[in-house]
Amino acid sequence: MANKTDIIIVGGGVIGSSIAYNLLNDGYTGEITVFEKDKLYEFASTPRSAGGIRQLFTTGINVQIGRYGLKKYTTFAEDMAVGDEKAEIDFKQRGYLFLAKHENLDYLKKQMEMQQSYGVPSKLLLKEDLLSIIPELHNADLQGGLYCAEDGYLDPYSVMQGYARKARELGASYVYEDVEKIQSNRGKVTGIQLKNGNTYEAPIVINCAGPWAPSLSESAGLPIPVVPLKRQIIQFEIAEPLKNELPLTVDPTGVYFRHEGTSIITGYGEKVKPGIDFKWNRSFFEEQLWPILAERVPNFERAKITGGWAGIYSHNTEDQNAIIGEHPKMGGYFMAVGFSGHGMQQAPAVGKGISELIRTGEYETIDLTPLRFERFAERKLVIEGAIV
Ligand SMILES: Cc1cc2nc3c(=O)[nH]c(=O)nc-3n(C[C@H](O)[C@H](O)[C@H](O)COP(=O)(O)OP(=O)(O)OC[C@H]3O[C@@H](n4cnc5c(N)ncnc54)[C@H](O)[C@@H]3O)c2cc1C
Repeated sequence: MANKTDIIIVGGGVIGSSIAYNLLNDGYTGEITVFEKDKLYEFASTPRSAGGIRQLFTTGINVQIGRYGLKKYTTFAEDMAVGDEKAEIDFKQRGYLFLAKHENLDYLKKQMEMQQSYGVPSKLLLKEDLLSIIPELHNADLQGGLYCAEDGYLDPYSVMQGYARKARELGASYVYEDVEKIQSNRGKVTGIQLKNGNTYEAPIVINCAGPWAPSLSESAGLPIPVVPLKRQIIQFEIAEPLKNELPLTVDPTGVYFRHEGTSIITGYGEKVKPGIDFKWNRSFFEEQLWPILAERVPNFERAKITGGWAGIYSHNTEDQNAIIGEHPKMGGYFMAVGFSGHGMQQAPAVGKGISELIRTGEYETIDLTPLRFERFAERKLVIEGAIV
């Protein structure tokens, strides 16, 4: 006998778990089954993320999504409590700071105006103001920066577990199995088949498989413009501590850094071939990151690497933004994929949006239709300038 459920979610990372939670929390009464192949989340993108939460985007849709996410994360510990156990996520609202050279300053000013129109308290800082945030900063070649004090960073693993725990409490089932393919009949999704041969039937299947989302979608004969891209993060200690706690700071080169405890973590969008690859190496730091870091903050010159890791971006090759909603060619097949480096901050709004779409047929809180799959055929791409 086939197993039956109402909604299948493939992937129990931050996105799949946020969707499961939001559906149930919003009153969905059907049965939700989440399939996760990696019970310890060893390779999922979520725990390998830098955990940056920001509203500093260049498109209205991403600003709204970021703002919604930020608000949810400020009350996450209480909202996701199970019994008297709070869901602590260590959200440090130490700000986000994009540093700018002369040619970028007008561009940042326009971004600030747009962000403020959505209520984001972003501020344009002049060269000298930067030192009030990072007194040790080498600012000679900078003109200023775009700063938002409300933003910050958190512990991604705890967010994911918070959503999953609460979703389970509300009735979601997690099944730790590998999904082999999505099944369909006459343009409608019918369920999934597992690697072990078992099948589950459901009228709704949601692809939240992160870096593995493209191959899952191909199993239904529906390719998506997403590829896996390796991204490394290196952790290092410095001999002379900084005066202030760092905001998540993005150098004009794209190299970013922030505090992690008393150490610093740093990363950069290096050029790599698409593929799943978890190797990290010190030479990446020594050759690509350190020269920029040491020039920007003299304290970083004496850096001692204490660790590192690689994770995978789900990189949308068309416009680097998420793909959200039902596939136009297969009824009941929903996607929440292609988040590149901004899935942590988008998880709350995406969970809410998919919940609304499935329960009511439309978005209510934030209109996520600009992120629909059809935008590629329509050439209505969502070009985001602040990709990290
Ligand atoms: C180095 C790095 C830094 C980042 N920094 C930030 C940041 O600062 N801020 C930010 O917002 N975002 C950041 N991101 C991006 C963010 O981590 C991701 O966008 C987000 O975690 C995506 O969540 P997800 O649930 O879609 O994917 P995942 O966390 O990868 O979850 C997908 C899950 O699906 C499971 N799965 C896949 N295929 C199957 C299958 N066939 N059957 C069953 N299970 C399956 C996987 O095992 C996995 O657990 C970063 C990412 C990386 C790699």
